[in-house]
Amino acid sequence: MRAITVTPGIAESARLEEVPEPPPSDGAIVARTMALGVCGTDREILSGVYGFAPPGEQRLVLGHESLGVVEAAPPGCGFAPGDLVVGIVRRPDPEPCPACAVGEWDMCRNGRYTERGIKERHGYGAERFRIEPDFAVKVDPALGVLGVLLEPASILAKAWDHTERIGHRARAFEPRSLLVTGAGPIGLLAALMGVQRGLAVHVYDHNKGGPKEALTRELGGSYHSDPESLRRLSPDILIECTGVPAVIRDCLGATGPAGITCLTGVTEPGKHFDLDIGEINRTTVLNNDCVFGTVNANRRHYEMAADSLARADKRWLARLITRRVPLERFDEALDHRKGDIKVIVEFAQ
Ligand SMILES: [Zn+2]
Repeated sequence: MRAITVTPGIAESARLEEVPEPPPSDGAIVARTMALGVCGTDREILSGVYGFAPPGEQRLVLGHESLGVVEAAPPGCGFAPGDLVVGIVRRPDPEPCPACAVGEWDMCRNGRYTERGIKERHGYGAERFRIEPDFAVKVDPALGVLGVLLEPASILAKAWDHTERIGHRARAFEPRSLLVTGAGPIGLLAALMGVQRGLAVHVYDHNKGGPKEALTRELGGSYHSDPESLRRLSPDILIECTGVPAVIRDCLGATGPAGITCLTGVTEPGKHFDLDIGEINRTTVLNNDCVFGTVNANRRHYEMAADSLARADKRWLARLITRRVPLERFDEALDHRKGDIKVIVEFAQ
């Protein structure tokens, strides 16, 4: 079968090549790949700065935003041929740490977890993949190819889960407004989940007009492209999805009283700013504010995300996917182009 592979650590090493069928040790479910989403992590791996091949191998099958159709599954495992399925990305560390031991590998303490398509395990960017039933998530068949949005949505389901757990430190937790910074796929999915919770949703992005603004307005949200809005809105919850240091700086202390700021973007170190730490600390303490970071997702978050996508407007979700590229031209999907929101690679059916 064909697979998109890379040599981690070597820039621009991606190619489509023949690889062996996935081994039974990858899991009892066999799925035929329908689509693969591409994100910033894939581009980082492609540029040679991140990613690890499985032990003893040179090349890594790329891809962690999966969607497949089950071809074979053992009886009684909860999956049957024809089901749409998404594979969970992370696997618990072999130790396991206290978090992995209770199924919260997203909170792994020792960093020895592995990840499909990223860290020491082959990804889902092949014509077929295998997966363990415990790491497979069923997708509403009505979603069709939109099921490929499940993995990015799981990241936001976790962000919301933790935001709400923090919120409930106060018995009167009753958020009314949300500000999302960044209107890429992660930001727009954060906004969708805010609308599903009945919040007044604001989205900030430096792009003026265009599909990001239209998608925000169609959700019923307000769109802002002036950085001043970050200081003016005073939201109860702020979800930062740009990973841009200057935006993150403006988010600190920007929530209303008892506000919660959730950071989801991964930044390169090395940007320095003059910050009035006294002012930020004073605001944070006097307002009972909380700023926290979140990454990855566990099984419960994938299930929450599957529920959220099943309840979303399919036409709206479809517009998040701005380019669909056939497997033979996968390299075009790895380019970041102006106007891209989510780009996917489609596999022949
Ligand atoms: Zn662990």
